Amino acid sequence: MWGRVVRVGQGWDIHRLVAGRALRLGGIGVPSERGLLGHSDGDVVLHAVTDALLGAIAAGDIGQHFPDTDPRYRGIDSGVLLTEVRALAERRGHRIGNVDVTILAERPKLSAHLAAMQERLAELLGIAPAQVGIKAKTAEGLGAIGAGEAIAALAVIAVTARARRRSAARRTKRQPARARRRGA
Ligand code: MG
Repeated sequence: MWGRVVRVGQGWDIHRLVAGRALRLGGIGVPSERGLLGHSDGDVVLHAVTDALLGAIAAGDIGQHFPDTDPRYRGIDSGVLLTEVRALAERRGHRIGNVDVTILAERPKLSAHLAAMQERLAELLGIAPAQVGIKAKTAEGLGAIGAGEAIAALAVIAVTARARRRSAARRTKRQPARARRRGA
C-alpha cells in the first residue's frame, strides 16, 4: 500500500562550456559549437535531477556515489548514473511523483529541444512526460552564464514513500490485546 507521504529534493549543477566537446543536455545531444566540460558527459540537467532525487531520499549526493576521481565514470552517459539512483530510490520503496527543471543557458537556444529532453527524462525516471516539467531561461547577459561560458540547471523532485504497514487505528486496537497477553 502506498501512502501519501511526500518527500521533495532539490538539485543544482553548473558546467563550463568549452570547444571540442559535444553538448549533452537532458539526456540528448544538442547541436552546438561548444559542449560542457566534465569528467562524465557533463550533462548538467541529469546531474541536477540526480542530486534532487538523492536529496529526496536523503542518500547523499552525486559526487559521493560517482566520484570524479573514478576512471569508471570518465565520459560516462549521465543517464546511467540517474538510472542507478532511480533503482536505489525504488529499492527503498519510493516512487517518483514529478520533476521540474530549469536550465540557465544564454546559448544555444534550447526551446526546440525541450520536448525531446522531456521525453528522455520521463524515460530515464520511468514516469510519463506529463510528470516532467522542463524550462529554459537565459541569464539576461549577466555573469558567466550570460557570457555563454557555462550552463547551469536547477531541479526539484517529489517522491512518495511507502506508508507504514500498520495504521495508528490498528495499533491502538492491538495494544489492549497485547497487554492482556502480557498480564495472563
Ligand atoms: Mg555535474
